[in-house]
Amino acid sequence: MTELADLGVTGLAVMGANLARNAARKGLRVALHNRTDEKTDRLVAEHGGEGDFRPSHSVADFVASLAVPRVVIIMVKAGKPVDGVIEELAEHMQPGDIIVDGGNSLFEDTRRRAATLAERQLHFVGMGISGGEEGALEGPSMMPGGSKEAWDRIAPMVTRMAVSVDGTPCCAYMGPDGAGHYVKMVHNGIEYADMQLITEAYDLLRTVYGRSAAEIGEIFAGWKSGDLDSYLIEITAAVLAKKDPATGNALVDMIVDEAEQKGTGRWTAQSALELGVPITAITEAVFARALSGRPAQRRAAEKALGGLRIEPRQAGQAEIDKIRDALYASKIIAYAQGFEQLAVASRQYDWNLNPGLIATIWRGGCIIRARFLDRIREGYDSHPDAPSLLLQDYFRDAVLKAEQAWRDVVVLAVQNGVAVPAFASSLAYYDGVRRARGPANLLQGLRDYFGAHTYRRTDREGSYHIRWSQDG
Ligand code: NAP
Repeated sequence: MTELADLGVTGLAVMGANLARNAARKGLRVALHNRTDEKTDRLVAEHGGEGDFRPSHSVADFVASLAVPRVVIIMVKAGKPVDGVIEELAEHMQPGDIIVDGGNSLFEDTRRRAATLAERQLHFVGMGISGGEEGALEGPSMMPGGSKEAWDRIAPMVTRMAVSVDGTPCCAYMGPDGAGHYVKMVHNGIEYADMQLITEAYDLLRTVYGRSAAEIGEIFAGWKSGDLDSYLIEITAAVLAKKDPATGNALVDMIVDEAEQKGTGRWTAQSALELGVPITAITEAVFARALSGRPAQRRAAEKALGGLRIEPRQAGQAEIDKIRDALYASKIIAYAQGFEQLAVASRQYDWNLNPGLIATIWRGGCIIRARFLDRIREGYDSHPDAPSLLLQDYFRDAVLKAEQAWRDVVVLAVQNGVAVPAFASSLAYYDGVRRARGPANLLQGLRDYFGAHTYRRTDREGSYHIRWSQDG
């Protein structure tokens, strides 16, 4: 008799199909299922030779084809579809079986699902997967959270599917219930900020210094060999170098300037607002996409207010280096903010997140993979409780070194009317956070004036209220 499958994947669009192929290539017996049969049949027809696949056309057959305890990875569209699929699976599964949600689910949904399934004695693992379709096939970065007992059981199988860097798999248990999906959400938020910063550097080189897409591509290719070395810088160089086969122009010049979003950046910002964590770079990146998505308004405003009024000028190496330094300093802020959000969420939800481990598993497979993450890991290894990346020696020195260039670039942008919301808000955060005494004393005075909200004093304990409009 054929042995039962080691694990099942349901939801065989790009991510699920590639993850299933990845598992099969690693020698696992993989049961396959999709809501509609076409994707299942196509996967077997096109890639059946890559490993041991067990296709099913019904959920009952799919679950029956799995070895006990049954392990199913769900890779369907995030949101309601996940609840429907869980419900169907649960009807056929038995206590002790394990459901893994590998999609980009909202962490609060994962917390709710984990609690509901625990009542039915089913284990639930919410696992963020990063790396896009290529990562899913070749080895993604994986961020599992939820039932630790279940994770320990499936870790040998799932970890084999992840990419490794220096012999360490980019996959590790993050913490209970929604911890894995939360870490993946913040990863995506940082990715939003990283991409926005790259876009702002490109915009300045384009508009102020009049460089062509291909020339900027070469500049980014050069940056790859320095501190900025990362997957995103590498693909920026490739995207800028690409010619449009139809027109011969730079392809990027032919692309409509409206960015779309699926929601993880917005969720990161929403959660930060609720937790009171200032993640300005990520939030500005979400708003920049929102503004890009209002072309009619932008066209009308350009007509009424006048658009760019720049005479492009020559830039030497020194000017280009300043933009690189501003990009690097802003990037450090974006990561510092993202890691602070993780720390605050960890305390709020009792997850005990390990920032050094998170940096370790983001070093490969995922979209924000970068040399930089080694520095973050080293920093947290030597100072596990550092309140901010900015207070770690390496990052403090890097920001101080880039500070003047960063200011010059923000001034350049402001003087030329080029919007750099992520550069500028990162600098504003930096200037705010390095002030032991800021101007919020006045805010407290105003609040007490109109709302008797009270204030605390610098020289005495306690809360105070004064009748501000009275003399003396
Ligand atoms: P997707 O486009 O998000 O979803 C399509 C899949 O969901 C199809 O298999 C579809 O089945 C299934 N589906 C939709 N509604 C369903 C329902 N009500 N019941 C059952 N199945 C349903 O697929 P994807 O891009 O491969 O992404 C899968 C998950 O991974 C998502 O959560 C996504 O956010 C996450 N993710 C994607 C990427 C990426 O680069 N694409 C990267 C990281 C994470 P049918 O074929 O029957 O329509």
